[in-house]
Amino acid sequence: MRVQVANHPLIAHKLTYLRDARTDSPTFRRLTEELVTLLAYEATRSVRVEPFEINTPVSPATGIKLSTPKPLVVPILRAGLGMLEGMVRLLPSAEVGFLGMQRNEETLEAITYANRLPDDLSGRQCYVLDPMLATGGTLAMSIQYLVDRGADDITAVTLLCAPEGIEALDDQLRELDVPVTLVTGAIDERLNEKGYIVPGLGDAGDRLYGVV
Ligand code: URA
Repeated sequence: MRVQVANHPLIAHKLTYLRDARTDSPTFRRLTEELVTLLAYEATRSVRVEPFEINTPVSPATGIKLSTPKPLVVPILRAGLGMLEGMVRLLPSAEVGFLGMQRNEETLEAITYANRLPDDLSGRQCYVLDPMLATGGTLAMSIQYLVDRGADDITAVTLLCAPEGIEALDDQLRELDVPVTLVTGAIDERLNEKGYIVPGLGDAGDRLYGVV
């Protein structure tokens, strides 16, 4: 797995306000969208394109457009939903699939409660959105679903990662014959005993949508 930390002062600035416990949900949602648009710029660096002939007011020219099949963006519900708008702002023609996954707070294992993905993802580039890569279980399972349907290039976009999660994810993906890139805003210090990223930003779903 290729890991890319998006190193930019605006990303660090927005992340600081996301981390701050005083930031309220409306501000947290807006900052998440803005941050994801910046991360999407990095994450789509290798999006597939094809040549496309146009006429400028002056002469013919060759440009590029996104290749078909169009990329698939997959937010992991619930917290990944907060990243969707920021991502499709840069990729408006992408299609969107959904995976609903929840962590068992005792075992920290991921459970899938919703799966709305196209059956055939052959030749598709997929962008998985999950704000927090903590233990890596949710992302590993999501990526496996995509590979099982034929996806051949996967980019995971996260706001924050724990080093333990990156290592576990890398281990679990080693068997897969599909390139995976991880784009993140920062790699934090560690996971605590409850599976939270330290210093992190708390529960991303609760910060985005309130405690339900
Ligand atoms: N999920 C979260 O929302 N926050 C963490 O710190 C870890 C997992």
